[in-house]
Amino acid sequence: MKVGIIGLGLIGGSLGLDLKGQGIEVVGVSLRENTCNIAIKKGVVNDASIDLGILKNTDVVIICTPVEAIASTLKSIIPYLNPDTVVTDVGSVKASVVKNCSSLWPNFVGGHPMAGTAQQGIEAAQRNLFENAAYVLTPIESTPLEVIQKVEKIALSVGGKIYICSPEIHDRAVALISHLPVMISAGLIKSCMMEKDEKVLNLAKNLASSGFRDTSRVGGGNVELGLMMAKYNRQELLFSLQQYRQNLDEIITQIEDKNWHELEQILKASQKARPDFLN
Ligand code: NAP
Repeated sequence: MKVGIIGLGLIGGSLGLDLKGQGIEVVGVSLRENTCNIAIKKGVVNDASIDLGILKNTDVVIICTPVEAIASTLKSIIPYLNPDTVVTDVGSVKASVVKNCSSLWPNFVGGHPMAGTAQQGIEAAQRNLFENAAYVLTPIESTPLEVIQKVEKIALSVGGKIYICSPEIHDRAVALISHLPVMISAGLIKSCMMEKDEKVLNLAKNLASSGFRDTSRVGGGNVELGLMMAKYNRQELLFSLQQYRQNLDEIITQIEDKNWHELEQILKASQKARPDFLN
């Protein structure tokens, strides 16, 4: 099997390391020549180039560019693909990507390996990044079964736990557990920064510990990723933010009205529900 990877960053590079490690022939394409050279040196790929011609005769192509470039990348590689080449992507949002890509290439299935680190770029690529991580595949009605099976096999081979769902269900679910937390966490940090009294603000900074570290981590991370979530999963993110605002309003009301029993019920219910999201 010959696999092509486009976008030799954290995700593309890490996939390359694992697939090449299995003895699969891997060729890479990236925007900058320097990235291609590092990818070859690091053992991410057998060969890499900024020239799309390197993708000739690949059995599978995995597009690992930023979300906004996925569909245009697929369009530009079509002249180099065999009719039965399978194409997939790793973008963190699926509905718009799958709609555009499936109309360009029938042998396309959307994918989302849900693993990452705070770092980006080829230097951040690492082996076993996807071990035991969810790997979501988002076929549509017209996606051929063999295409799903081929990508599933690759995802399993890098240690992914397969979930199959529609692109729309994927986007609603990740809005809840990934995109909403980023915005809430950013709002939390902003609220802290609004403290006008220098003494209070400085003390708060010194006192901040594990609780603040946990709740602020995703809001203080990669800016481009946060923007991508808002731009490309806008409707689902807005819906979950509005639901969150309703819950926040309810909590405010219970505290204003000193409804300690109701507040206790809310806290008990969230304490009970949390493990279901983490196990
Ligand atoms: P990244 O580390 O910044 O890597 C992206 C790479 O794509 C860059 O190194 C860049 O290469 C290359 N690139 C950009 N535009 C390109 C184009 N038009 N043609 C070819 N190569 C191009 O980003 P990443 O974290 O790997 O994310 C890549 C994809 O994975 C995104 O779609 C993201 O949504 C998805 N994803 C990310 C995570 C995460 O936690 N980071 C998790 C799951 C999925 P040069 O170095 O050559 O400029």
